[in-house]
Amino acid sequence: MTHDDELFLRRAIELAAMSRASGDAPFGSLLVGPDGAVLAEDHNTVLTDRDISAHPELKLARWAARELNPDVASATTMYTSCEPCGMCAGAIERSGLGRVVFALSNEQLTGLKPPAAGTGVRQDGPALYDEARVPVEGYYL
Ligand SMILES: [Zn+2]
Repeated sequence: MTHDDELFLRRAIELAAMSRASGDAPFGSLLVGPDGAVLAEDHNTVLTDRDISAHPELKLARWAARELNPDVASATTMYTSCEPCGMCAGAIERSGLGRVVFALSNEQLTGLKPPAAGTGVRQDGPALYDEARVPVEGYYL
């Protein structure tokens, strides 16, 4: 963690505070390109957009995949106020971004929240392999 990393993380924390002040959940993120320039910033808008996927990390991962060429994306760092959730981590992996730097870990975030209700969504599978593989086979070759 460099001095610049800490400066950009502080900006992510500032975006998180601004998000909370504007009525959304307290999470913020930014992308910093290979030359150290801020390319994009965003914050959580789950409540104001009524969109369960409106996490800043996901929005920025989508932006990076759409707007950056792969060489620039792989040399770009996402700074985020909290460790990306599973949804966002998957999108970041697909975006081509090269690095993520976060402030709070998910464990630290959990420690700041009331106990979670519910036990998650039931998932059944795998099933029907012989049928389900047909549209996939050969696609990635
Ligand atoms: Zn997320």
